[in-house]
Amino acid sequence: MIEVISDSRCIDCNICVEVCPTDVFEAVDGGHPVIARQSDCQTCFMCEANCPADALFVSPLAGPAPAGSPLTDETFLASQGRFGEYRRWLGWGYGRRPGSLQDRNYVFVERIRRAAEVGEVGEVGETNGQPRPPGHVPHPGS
Ligand code: SF4
Ligand code: SF4
Repeated sequence: MIEVISDSRCIDCNICVEVCPTDVFEAVDGGHPVIARQSDCQTCFMCEANCPADALFVSPLAGPAPAGSPLTDETFLASQGRFGEYRRWLGWGYGRRPGSLQDRNYVFVERIRRAAEVGEVGEVGETNGQPRPPGHVPHPGS
């Protein structure tokens, strides 16, 4: 859940206000936006991913952090490098290595493909003998 907008980092661009799918933030004339509806936060991390100043911290908790939690303490979070951490993991921002170049999912896909070649599993993308889920729309040609 969104917890902190860093006073010292925020540049008042209001990108977070625009990207939040549940309208959690409220723009403020001449100042930083505020977290106006924290309980509407879906913990989607989109604000943190898009903040160009690494000024946001979305905590991993599904609900608000308890009073006095370090997860609400700007000084602590900054000392731990937590602001904009999700954006860094994604590799978004100038000078960062894109997360897509670090994605190792292809190893799993490759392993499945090889297993399919030697008959250990069904065709890649098939259900391997399991019933298809309700509402499944078959691929064209399958
Ligand atoms: S996106 Fe970041 S820098 Fe821009 S207003 Fe929101 S918190 Fe501030
Ligand atoms: S984590 Fe998602 S839902 Fe929560 S404030 Fe950020 S953008 Fe909005």
